[in-house]
Amino acid sequence: MNQAWLKKIRVVVSLVFLALTTLLFVDFDRIGETPTATVALYPQFVPSLLKFSQTFAWGAAGFLAVLALTLLFGRVYCSTICPLGTLQDIVIRVADQLRKPRKVKFRYQRPRNVLRYGLLALAVGLFLGGSTLALSLLDPFSNFGRIAGDLLRPLYVVVHNGFGQLLESVGVYGPFPLHWKAPPLAALIFPALFLLGLIGLSATRGRLFCNTLCPVGALLGLLSRFALFKIRIPQDACVLCAQCSIHCKAGCIRLKTKEVDFSRCVACFNCMTVCETHGIGYAWSGPVLLRRSTPVALPQSQPSNSLDVVRRAALSREGKARRALLRAGATALVGLASLPRSSSVEAKPSNHVPTRLVNAKTWPVAPPGARDIVRFNDLCTACHLCVSACPYGVLQPSLLDYGWSGLLQPHLDFASGYCGYECNRCGQICPTGAIPPLALVAKQTVQLGVAHFVRDNCIVHTDHTACGACDEYCPTKAVHMIPYQDGLTIPEVRPVLCVGCGACENACPARPHRAIYVDGHPVQRQALRPSAKPLEYQPDRGFPF
Ligand code: SF4
Ligand code: SF4
Ligand code: SF4
Repeated sequence: MNQAWLKKIRVVVSLVFLALTTLLFVDFDRIGETPTATVALYPQFVPSLLKFSQTFAWGAAGFLAVLALTLLFGRVYCSTICPLGTLQDIVIRVADQLRKPRKVKFRYQRPRNVLRYGLLALAVGLFLGGSTLALSLLDPFSNFGRIAGDLLRPLYVVVHNGFGQLLESVGVYGPFPLHWKAPPLAALIFPALFLLGLIGLSATRGRLFCNTLCPVGALLGLLSRFALFKIRIPQDACVLCAQCSIHCKAGCIRLKTKEVDFSRCVACFNCMTVCETHGIGYAWSGPVLLRRSTPVALPQSQPSNSLDVVRRAALSREGKARRALLRAGATALVGLASLPRSSSVEAKPSNHVPTRLVNAKTWPVAPPGARDIVRFNDLCTACHLCVSACPYGVLQPSLLDYGWSGLLQPHLDFASGYCGYECNRCGQICPTGAIPPLALVAKQTVQLGVAHFVRDNCIVHTDHTACGACDEYCPTKAVHMIPYQDGLTIPEVRPVLCVGCGACENACPARPHRAIYVDGHPVQRQALRPSAKPLEYQPDRGFPF
């Protein structure tokens, strides 16, 4: 039976999902605010599972559909929906083009069950114990997100802005320039190293990541053993040409026994397109397929040694291809490292006297609506979709700000930006429910933390000059100016009105330590809604610097 059409469908669907998720993570034309986002995010396994565990809503039950799909057709999630799977397929294809002769690509690999089920147990155990650390580090969706959001988005922003400038130079005013705030370099190292490792692994060993490290692959592999449709090698039609095994990127076809290890088969259908007799096919799996088939020895006439010779030749070429890929990856990493970190390109200090008092921050500031830090750490898988979507660039990946359990999870970095009063995007886009969606009116009274004023760092005090940047930017007028000396005014904070958006801290020009800073709340609170009435004292607008 010739079922090559199945592979064509698989390729088209996988490219659609890859394109949609990539566009989401580079925040192309605010695509996250369109129904396209739902199409791309709904069936993503780990985010959907986490969101469902909070809401029990059908709108978050995509993972149930994936489980049902797996019980029917095997791991089609891995070959179509998972963007990291498709990324590996592209690497495999490119490596294949570089490799000559192109006949031998893969061979049967022994299952590494202790590793893959051990990691699955670790991820589940840590999650049940209240930590998403293992999920964050191994979840394919989140890893793809960090690659696309942290590494690809800067390139997209450069191309987008370059295109805009080109149009402007010919008098056409097109897209608004995008702003990208570079995260700490250390936070970029993880996705960069992961990408390099993934490229090396998939170029040489196919979908080994999916069958050893990925907890979703391991879980779906357990179910796909019982799938109703499976790849089937008919004993009589097979002439042991070995083409299926050579082209199996999961390394799961064992020719000696003419068996397919369904727990590792990623349903790519490559084997069906290369089978010389079109014997191998995708078929309803009766009990006969669950029985161990009798091992069949290779016939004497089979040129098994020639296969080994071709494999050895291919492996020596693999080394060259691998080195080339590693060189390319290292070059990309150096290029990224040379990009300026925007938060380091801060406003020049306006104070003549350097400030001395260090800001005594005790808690990081979690995204608006996250409720409390423990809950947030338990649900966020650090996919960085919110980081890409934040129009104010204030959401940045953290390192150990939340401790190990919150590694790479986003926090509000007021050196990079501040949380816009009229914005609630992160909650609308977060696929795991770590940042619940809040109506704008509700989000505007969530208190993420409270501003603290350090008079001894304030320019008004140190330089005896006018300022008031914090008051100017504060959207609720929680920071306002009160009379000081010689006609000058100095800030005062009214905590009940403060929402902890960080606009004051971001605007404050005092260096090296700012004169106003926001300390996060471990449990977010409610602020009072500001009155529409003008406040009692309004300073003169305009800054002396
Ligand atoms: S609500 Fe604040 S943190 Fe969230 S996306 Fe908007 S500006 Fe960024
Ligand atoms: S909070 Fe941000 S990084 Fe965490 S899961 Fe949600 S979108 Fe992803
Ligand atoms: S921004 Fe506010 S706190 Fe900072 S120096 Fe100016 S007045 Fe002082």
